[in-house]
Amino acid sequence: MTRSTLDGLPPLREVIAENGLSARKSLGQNFLLDLNLTSKIARQAGDLTGCDVLEVGPGPGGLTRALLHEGARKVVAIEQDERCLPALQAVSEHYNGRLTVLQGDALKIDPTEHLAAPVRIVSNLPYNVGTELLTRWLSPPTWPPFWQSLTLMFQKEVAQRIVAQPGSKAYGRLSILAQWRCQARIAMEVPAAAFTPPPKVTSAVVHLERREAPAYAADPAALNKTVAKAFGQRRKMLRSSMKGLHTDIEGCLLAADIKPTQRAEEISIEKFCALARILG
Ligand code: SAM
Repeated sequence: MTRSTLDGLPPLREVIAENGLSARKSLGQNFLLDLNLTSKIARQAGDLTGCDVLEVGPGPGGLTRALLHEGARKVVAIEQDERCLPALQAVSEHYNGRLTVLQGDALKIDPTEHLAAPVRIVSNLPYNVGTELLTRWLSPPTWPPFWQSLTLMFQKEVAQRIVAQPGSKAYGRLSILAQWRCQARIAMEVPAAAFTPPPKVTSAVVHLERREAPAYAADPAALNKTVAKAFGQRRKMLRSSMKGLHTDIEGCLLAADIKPTQRAEEISIEKFCALARILG
């Protein structure tokens, strides 16, 4: 048997063949088999020593192995596909139980009882649930959340929306949700050819580091409602897209230092927060 040099466990191609892990599209399975690449992704999360890591969708364990190899105190991984469990069990044994696997749907499992602070979330997410998970992690009942940072793989187009600045086409609800409470950057791009099977699009790893307090004061529900309304008809001027939120919407916009003729994509997060405070 060939042995990989990184951690002494078998190469991922072998793991996949031995466990019959033919990729399933319905589960968003595009695997990373190059352990040098998964290590590079793991390092984008910063120093993992002394951190618990939550990983969604470990699959055959390429990124999981890198996270453990890079020094994570513990990895808690949620995987829906039962076929991956034996491979992950072998990783857990190799790393003396530092890996805990929770089998099931990450949208339904609450992993927090298995995690101790500081927690970093690092995942090559299944594309079908990636944005939903990100939205949930960014909208906890109280802030700061249970995690310190998020290092996540997305389709490049979604990654660009997360980090977009006002004035760009990609700027929208996701940009505001992410940047209001986090510092967000694209850490690296990953070509389709790096995955097995390759997806149709380029991917990118986004790193979000939480702010201890939101960048500008606002009630989360009021901000969400304001931004949703503004971007609901993003091509319209705000005086018409925001109609219905207040009897004097033009007055509210002016009070927030926004021209009623401006469009949603021109408005900074600071001004959206000011508007949300006025609209309540
Ligand atoms: N981390 C592995 C890698 O980098 O090679 C696999 C990444 S693959 C893009 C996504 C993984 O998420 C698959 O292993 C898939 O079975 C799993 N998955 C899909 N939907 C899931 C869900 N709702 N909850 C938990 N895992 C899920």
